[in-house]
Amino acid sequence: MLNQYNIQSTDFIGALVKTSLVDYPKKVSAVLFLHGCNLRCPYCYNKDFVTGTPKDYDAVTFNDVISHLIKRKNVLSGFVISGGEPCLSPLLHPLIRQAHNLGYLVKLDTNGTIPEKLENLFSENIYNPDFVAMDIKTSLDNYSVLGYESCESIDNIRTSIDIISKLPTSKREFRTVLVPTLVTKETIKEIASILPKDSSWQFAKFQPGSCLNKEYNTITPYTQSQMNELVDFAKSLIPNATLR
Ligand code: SF4
Repeated sequence: MLNQYNIQSTDFIGALVKTSLVDYPKKVSAVLFLHGCNLRCPYCYNKDFVTGTPKDYDAVTFNDVISHLIKRKNVLSGFVISGGEPCLSPLLHPLIRQAHNLGYLVKLDTNGTIPEKLENLFSENIYNPDFVAMDIKTSLDNYSVLGYESCESIDNIRTSIDIISKLPTSKREFRTVLVPTLVTKETIKEIASILPKDSSWQFAKFQPGSCLNKEYNTITPYTQSQMNELVDFAKSLIPNATLR
């Protein structure tokens, strides 16, 4: 079945969290972290999926994932495909199709750098994710610190926001990690200006310790009151902004 993608169903493709209560809103889900990413976010704590190899973690194959979805069908209702950047994977289409055929709702986590892939997924029902969460890392002008340079690339982020914004509000969210230096009040103002006003915008605390760029492990996270202040400011621009 996977030959057309030049991948064997026994190749290691990523890591599987078998049961999660927090990754798909209001659903019990399995979460697949697909290997490989086209960004190098300095605060990334999924570095094994970004710069490592599947030997660095407890990797699973396509067949393992589908077997798990079949086995836990009466316990799970959601399947989250995360990464890395899942839109890079040739397995994204077959994974979504198989999960849908088994009756799962599929959530896609993306960094929004490959809008063509999103367009392509949305063009056919069987591949259409039921929920999309897109990370907005910092202001668009600042994406160069993530290894993302050209104007054309930055346009991809805007295009992905536009594509995702066409989904009903219940099926989409934008997410930002509150990394000091990358996300300030000014940054929040800039990001808010490119998001639809009715967006769900989820903020998360920055957690140093295993960052891709070791220098980021020395950055002190915002305090609770600083985070509250930033999220309150975001809320004044995008009412459904919340701190997770
Ligand atoms: S945070 Fe996400 S987008 Fe950034 S490098 Fe890590 S996996 Fe890639």
